[in-house]
Amino acid sequence: MNSTDWAAFAARIKQQGQQLGFRAVGIADIDLSQEWPRLQQWLENHYHGDMDYMARHGDMRCHPEQLHPGTLKVICVALDYLPPEAGFAANLKQSDSAYVSRYAGGRDYHKLMRNRLKKLGDWIKAELPESDDHNFRPFVDSAPLLERPLARNAGLGWVGKHSLLLNEQAGSWFFLGELLVNLPLPNDEANQQDCGSCSACLTICPTKAIVEPYVVDGRRCISYLTIESDHAIPEPLRAAIGNRIYGCDDCQLVCPWNRAAPLTSESDFHIRDALQQPKLLTLWQWDEAAFLKQMEGSPIRRIGFRRWQRNLAVALGNGPASAEVISALTQGLGRVDEMVDEHIHWALNQLQQRQGEYRNRQQQRLIRVVEKGLPRDA
Ligand code: SF4
Ligand code: SF4
Repeated sequence: MNSTDWAAFAARIKQQGQQLGFRAVGIADIDLSQEWPRLQQWLENHYHGDMDYMARHGDMRCHPEQLHPGTLKVICVALDYLPPEAGFAANLKQSDSAYVSRYAGGRDYHKLMRNRLKKLGDWIKAELPESDDHNFRPFVDSAPLLERPLARNAGLGWVGKHSLLLNEQAGSWFFLGELLVNLPLPNDEANQQDCGSCSACLTICPTKAIVEPYVVDGRRCISYLTIESDHAIPEPLRAAIGNRIYGCDDCQLVCPWNRAAPLTSESDFHIRDALQQPKLLTLWQWDEAAFLKQMEGSPIRRIGFRRWQRNLAVALGNGPASAEVISALTQGLGRVDEMVDEHIHWALNQLQQRQGEYRNRQQQRLIRVVEKGLPRDA
């Protein structure tokens, strides 16, 4: 082991990682103790909402060696996911269409990334003497790891004011993964860049979830509300959700570093046909079997039919008030459970109010037209 040139080996690991399709590979130390006060404050503010696992493993997040004993370093990787023809504007502006976060339009990334990380681990093992006890463990979102600070320390980018990782070349449309290893590899230099005076993501956030630079109140974030939360969506936030039925990309869309972000080279992340500008009404009419079939292999399947219907009800309530939508929503009552029904009632209420306002406006217009057309002495 002592004879290994670890700096040279680290360079070969990065090369191998890139051959496996990762855009960037970096190495970070396991000491994240400086992150704990910030994380602790975030948890004390209950910004994690119902994500109890965040609180349960709070301290462990700063100690990767507790997750996999013997860990000395973390190999961090980034994989681009921005699909071609992302159709951001078209989807967000059409209120009768559904918007799905761009990482979720294709196949679930977890399996793909974990397999690639495992391949990288196997390659490392094969390259080193068998007599040494080399071991590794791959993670993709599956463990209490502070992946963004780790990736920053590995030189992959900086944590933006929206709390995601970004960098000058790739913007922020990439997944992160980690390989915990017991090798004394040299650390990469942490990325020292920051957002400067920009605050575009704070301004654009529809629900004002970025409560201060670098701090996201998860309970207000549309990604949390539509994906993580199993409960009713708080009423005051429903209108701001618009037509976003799974996640939200607004803080990334507005980020200047994403203007020239590269497209993914993974066809798995291309948007599947069923999610190419999908009409809300079409998605609403899927029964559970259709949902499971259409979302096979998609990360969206994980939220289940109940949250899917809840999210669609909110989006329909924010969309055009047509008789067809009102009838379809009414037919959905009793289909899932009380929580979904409550969202349907909310949506129907919104649509009926809007229809009433529309009728009033039409009446006022008619009255004005009639008045203009009347003879002066009438
Ligand atoms: S994902 Fe959407 S809701 Fe969440 S912080 Fe970003 S802009 Fe706000
Ligand atoms: S929009 Fe501006 S403040 Fe927000 S992450 Fe991008 S550069 Fe940073």
